[in-house]
Amino acid sequence: MNTAFRPLAGRRGLIVGVANEHSIAWGCARRAHGLGAELALSCLNAKAVTYTAPLAEQLGAPLFTCDVSDATAMQAMVDSAARQLGGLDFVVHSIAWAPHDDLHGRVADSSADGFARAMQISCHSFAALARLAEPHMREGGTLVTMSYLGAEEAVPHYGLMGPVKAALESMVRYLALELGPAGIRVHAVSPGPVPTRAASGLPEFDSLMASARAQAPLRRLVTLDEIGDCVAFLVGPGATGMTGQTLFVDAGVHAVR
Ligand code: NAD
Repeated sequence: MNTAFRPLAGRRGLIVGVANEHSIAWGCARRAHGLGAELALSCLNAKAVTYTAPLAEQLGAPLFTCDVSDATAMQAMVDSAARQLGGLDFVVHSIAWAPHDDLHGRVADSSADGFARAMQISCHSFAALARLAEPHMREGGTLVTMSYLGAEEAVPHYGLMGPVKAALESMVRYLALELGPAGIRVHAVSPGPVPTRAASGLPEFDSLMASARAQAPLRRLVTLDEIGDCVAFLVGPGATGMTGQTLFVDAGVHAVR
């Protein structure tokens, strides 16, 4: 990378959802850092720190642990990150979770409790993060979350996460409406399938990757760096006129289905 090209220099970002070096959140962190951003990272718990501490160290970034089902822990994470960085210019929300049985069954058979927990962790936590980040974005900022094509159409085996991601994409539009007057822009990025730990929990994920590769106009899958570059664009100076969108980074699959 050309080290003189640093469009994110002076921007401070919190990236939530790094589990390991395969995480989409890590792709976002690596690229934002390479383009000059100063970062704080967050992972789920002490067990995840084993894998994420060396990554945070590579970027010289403080690392926090936070389970987003714990409102107090979320507040502490956002406030500590903002304190250490001297404010926040962007937050990347890259987390999703659903109970195994609900994820592996039909949507029609999903439990009310499992659906509610999936919604809380994978969708409502984005609104909670927005509320907590807002007071630290004094000169505006950008919030980005991760969606998937299964929000827009019924993708076999994506199951319960489809309606959850549909709600998340709607959440992006409502947060854009509500936070726009404060100069806070809100987006979802919708990557094609990439082999991560969360993805490995989906049934038939290998065949989903194979069919995405075959269908994609670009005839390949996307990389973590390509997803990270899209996020870096959204949080950077080139995207200041945009808010409320879902941008596909999927080698074109969405366009040809
Ligand atoms: P990943 O396993 O690397 O990341 C998922 C993260 O969610 C992990 O860091 C995990 O600890 C975190 N998480 C789960 N429950 C949590 C909780 N209660 N509190 C805090 N963190 C919690 O997998 P990934 O594929 O990088 O997933 C990141 C995002 O990208 C998710 O929203 C996922 O739906 C989305 N996405 C993934 C793909 C793909 O093919 N991998 C495609 C499109 C969208």
